[in-house]
Amino acid sequence: MIIQTHQLCKTYHNIQAVKNLDLSIEEGELYALLGVNGAGKTTTLKMLSCLIKPTDGQVEIDGIDLLQDSQKIKQIINISPQETAIAPLLSVEENLQFICEIYGFNQKTAKIKTKEMMEHLQLTPYAKQTAGTLSGGWQRRLSIAMALMSQPKILFLDEPTLGLDVIARRNLWDFIKQLKGQMTIILTTHYLEEAEALSDHIGIMNQGQLKIVGTSEELMQKAQTLSFEDAFLYFTQQGETL
Ligand code: ATP
Repeated sequence: MIIQTHQLCKTYHNIQAVKNLDLSIEEGELYALLGVNGAGKTTTLKMLSCLIKPTDGQVEIDGIDLLQDSQKIKQIINISPQETAIAPLLSVEENLQFICEIYGFNQKTAKIKTKEMMEHLQLTPYAKQTAGTLSGGWQRRLSIAMALMSQPKILFLDEPTLGLDVIARRNLWDFIKQLKGQMTIILTTHYLEEAEALSDHIGIMNQGQLKIVGTSEELMQKAQTLSFEDAFLYFTQQGETL
């Protein structure tokens, strides 16, 4: 397992956002975390990506204890957060070059990597465009490109296609599919068909707890339904953790 949590908890004042979470994610898989608003998905992602500290429990990422050595973990992960993390006044090219230099590449290497990444993500026609004037879908693509610059072993995507139109979403799915196998990807989403189309395993969270994990077929089978939406509703509305 590349990610393993044991009884992971996060409490904000008196809100238990994540409760005793035992998560196991295999290297190279795409794992989707689903759940209704407030289920604890973003909090989980933030803990795994070292943005916030757990209140309790253990996390091991690539054999490294997160509480002991988060610096080492930060070197092998990256995140494209919900709020797109681009500099809106810089051009696409400048955003990518800037992030490369932050990761310690010299100017010459940063230029080469930027060119390669723009070609890889079909961003080249937008190179000189101010990032803030790109459409939502292309801003999201740029944000993911920036996260990929550090060549992470683990990539976290928090609602990568939120607010995108059907075509932009499908394009981004194709792109995420291309990344599959090259790294471990953990994504959160509200789009059930997205989880079905992309993931190897799906974990459904509710009220800070993991209710069930499986492939979409396994979840439908366990809920005795042929519709993934019905399976999602079934596991979300069950009182007991399964
Ligand atoms: P959504 O689908 O709406 O993004 P989510 O599953 O990602 O929801 P979280 O954002 O992890 O859920 O929130 C879980 C719970 O923790 C919610 O009750 C939320 O109000 C609470 N919470 C999250 N962040 C904070 C914070 N910084 N301070 C206090 N409470 C918080």
